[in-house]
Amino acid sequence: MSDDLIECEGHGQQRPAFVCQHLAETQPDDEPIGFHWNCEGGDLLANCDDCEAEASDDGFLPDDYFEENFVVICRMCFVEMAAVNDVSLQEIEQAEKAAAS
Ligand SMILES: [Zn+2]
Ligand SMILES: [Zn+2]
Repeated sequence: MSDDLIECEGHGQQRPAFVCQHLAETQPDDEPIGFHWNCEGGDLLANCDDCEAEASDDGFLPDDYFEENFVVICRMCFVEMAAVNDVSLQEIEQAEKAAAS
C-alpha cells in the first residue's frame, strides 16, 4: 500500500487510486463503459471493459499495458466514479480493510 498522498483539485490531499485512462476521461459524466475494480495490495484500481479484455487468464494486465493506460486519481474521485457504476463506498471500504489485514 502506498502512503503517499496526492493533491486533488476537488478533494485536497487524498490517497491515490489507479484507473485506466478511459475511465478517467469518461466517468462519472458519460455512459458507463464497465468498471472492474479491486484493492489487491491495498491500492484501489479499476479499469473499463476494453482493458479487462487485455487481462491475462489470471486476471492481471501486463505491466507495460498498465504503464501506458493507467493514470493516478485521488481516492475520492475513485469513490465517485465507483458510485455511478453501482459500487458503494461501503464495498470499497470493506475491500480496503480486507487488503490491510
Ligand atoms: Zn480502459
Ligand atoms: Zn479527487
